[in-house]
Amino acid sequence: MNRDLFQAEYDRWFAKNGMTRFLSPEFRDRFADLTERLLSANEQHNLTAIKDERGVIVRHYIDCLTAVDGIPRGASVLDVGSGGGMPSFPFAVCRPDLKITALDATAKKTAFIAETAAALSLANLVALTGRAEELGREPAYRERYDAVCARAVARLNVLLEWCAPFLKTGGLLIALKGKNAEEELAEAGHAVAELGLTLLSADPITVYEGDEAFSRVNLVFRKIAPISPKYPRSNAQIQKKPL
Ligand code: SAM
Repeated sequence: MNRDLFQAEYDRWFAKNGMTRFLSPEFRDRFADLTERLLSANEQHNLTAIKDERGVIVRHYIDCLTAVDGIPRGASVLDVGSGGGMPSFPFAVCRPDLKITALDATAKKTAFIAETAAALSLANLVALTGRAEELGREPAYRERYDAVCARAVARLNVLLEWCAPFLKTGGLLIALKGKNAEEELAEAGHAVAELGLTLLSADPITVYEGDEAFSRVNLVFRKIAPISPKYPRSNAQIQKKPL
C-alpha cells in the first residue's frame, strides 16, 4: 500500500464527512497500519468485501465512527459479530478509554483481530470466539457490558435477542443499521419490549464517498429492566420464531 496516497485519501474523506477531529497524525498512522494489515489479510482470508483503501476509509472507518460519540467514557463494550473488526478497530483506535471485546463466531476472524490488536498496541481491544446466543447464557458474559454494538450482523428482531443479554441494566445497545432501519424497527417492537429495552434515538446518517452518498441509521436503545432467563433462546428457535 502506498502510505502517502492513503494519507491523502484519509484526509480527504474524513474532511468531506465533517470528521476533522480525526485528522491527527497519530490517528492517520494507526489507521494506515490497520489498513495495510486488513488488505493484506484479505488477500488470504476474505475478511471483508471491501478491498480498496478508499472503501475501507469511508465504508468501514468513517461509517463506524458515526456511532462512537454515543458510548459513555470508560465503558466496557461488546461488538457482536465483529467480522474483520468493525466497529471494534475504529472504536479502539479513537477511544483509548473504552474496553472493547470483539465477538465473532468465526475463529479466523477473531485470530486476525487479536494479532492485529497486538501488532498495533491496541491494549483496549480483545477478541472472543463464539456464538452470541450461546455466550449470552454464560455468567462470565451475561449482563457484564456497559454497551453492546453491532453492524451488519442480523435483522433487528434477531440481533436484539443476541445482544441484550450481554448488557447490564442501564447499558446501551447500538445497532448500526442500513436504510431499512425503520422497517426493521417497526418489525422489532415486540422484541424491544420483551427484552427490557427502550429506544433512545434513531439518528439518520449520511456518509459521502465520491459522488455517492449513502444513508444509514444508528439505533440506540437503553436496557431498562433485567432480562428473562429464557433469553437468548437457541439459534434454531430464534430463527424459526424471531421475537
Ligand atoms: N460487523 C462487521 C462489519 O460491519 O464489517 C462484520 C459483519 S459480517 C457481515 C457478520 C459477522 O457476524 C460474521 O463475521 C459472522 O461470523 C458473525 N456472526 C453471525 N452470527 C453470529 C452469532 N450468532 N454470533 C457471533 N457472530 C456471528
